[in-house]
Amino acid sequence: MYDVIVVGARCAGAPLAMLLANRGHRVVVLDRVRFPRDTLSTHYVQPSALARLDRWGLLDRLVATGCPPISEAVWRFGELVVRGFAPPAGTVSVAYAPRRYVLDALLVDAAREAGAEVREGFTVRGLVFDGDRVTGVRGRSHGGSDEVLRAPVVVGADGRGSLVARAVNAAAYNERPPLTVVYYTYWRGLDPAHRGRNEVYIKDDKQIGVIPTHGDTFLIQAARPHSALAEYRSDIEGRYHAAIAEAAPELADELARRGTRTERFLGTGALGNYYRTPYGPGWALAGDAGYHKDPLTGQGIGDAWRDAESLAHALHDVLDGGQDWNTALGAYEKARNAESETIYEFTCEAASFRFDAMTNALLRVLAADRAQADRFFGVIAGSVSAEEFFSPENLLSLLQDQVALEEL
Ligand SMILES: Cc1cc2nc3c(=O)[nH]c(=O)nc-3n(C[C@H](O)[C@H](O)[C@H](O)COP(=O)(O)OP(=O)(O)OC[C@H]3O[C@@H](n4cnc5c(N)ncnc54)[C@H](O)[C@@H]3O)c2cc1C
Repeated sequence: MYDVIVVGARCAGAPLAMLLANRGHRVVVLDRVRFPRDTLSTHYVQPSALARLDRWGLLDRLVATGCPPISEAVWRFGELVVRGFAPPAGTVSVAYAPRRYVLDALLVDAAREAGAEVREGFTVRGLVFDGDRVTGVRGRSHGGSDEVLRAPVVVGADGRGSLVARAVNAAAYNERPPLTVVYYTYWRGLDPAHRGRNEVYIKDDKQIGVIPTHGDTFLIQAARPHSALAEYRSDIEGRYHAAIAEAAPELADELARRGTRTERFLGTGALGNYYRTPYGPGWALAGDAGYHKDPLTGQGIGDAWRDAESLAHALHDVLDGGQDWNTALGAYEKARNAESETIYEFTCEAASFRFDAMTNALLRVLAADRAQADRFFGVIAGSVSAEEFFSPENLLSLLQDQVALEEL
């Protein structure tokens, strides 16, 4: 008998298990895969997320893996260049884009060291109920026979396709359909000038991102609106290069001259946007299982870590502090939603490739004013309040300054 069973051992599940085990709870975390193992995800990790990793004592381990730091953002909107970097988030003034097979294995190791039982290669096939209350899971190790594990709490940290969310019928709200389709791969041999930077090229309905990662390679992604899914899928390599040629012709030229592609293309158009009610009798959800948004603004890993910390507090309060389940878990949901709602709206807006007159005016402000560009990047990085930056007063004042400048 465990206190908590966690299904899924990546960004949400492994730290949740670690934090609960640190507080003396008996936790088992289950994953159908064995680590280290890659997953379908690009991997820009925001400074605010890294500050949390630092609090957990794991940032030094990540740095020791040789992942190159990123300290400048250069976003090109046609001729307009917005350059800057987010103000520090607590102790952290850089970003990293670690390969997921490195990052996730590090998190799993930390959970195991903290005393959580980690069962890799264990697939959960269903939940066990007592009436409407979840009391355990049913599943099996690779090559083994069915087992039932029991606990008063089962957490679904099992990603976008969450079996736990489906089994409990977790209600979705504030949903938006998928907005983008993205494919990415890795490149070597590029100009060292790309190092240390997060480069983004946006032109019409194409978004190209370049980020440095482990092994002196660069992840390059090409995103299109979801309406281009069938066209993109019909010739992934051709469409990927065509998008880069259109939005970032110099980069396309560089890839042709000196770039070597080191891996296959990965990508998807199955990127729905939703919140789900993250708790019910005997169950809770963390990470993508409970809240998912288009990856264009790179929030998912940090959101999963925020959920892990916040849910660990809530479960500890219930298991040890005798707090009422609905009160503790209700507060978890409320805090998640309050912290994410503005960036969720911004992400959905950015992922819809709509550039209205107001957005274009704002971009001109940011291109001309480095301090404001830093604040804008800070919103995405989690070190500047999104509510404050996008408040009508702040936007009005920025746009008025721009009009005044243009009139000079
Ligand atoms: C194309 C793409 C690009 C992205 N780019 C970024 C980015 O740049 N920055 C960023 O911050 N985020 C990015 N994200 C989002 C990020 O990948 C996710 O938000 C993050 O991985 C969520 O972590 P998680 O632990 O909730 O889920 P996952 O990482 O999906 O982990 C779920 C785990 O559960 C396991 N599991 C599932 N079902 C079962 C089962 N039945 N039994 C046992 N185990 C099970 C899986 O094997 C998996 O290991 C991107 C996502 C995509 C798809």
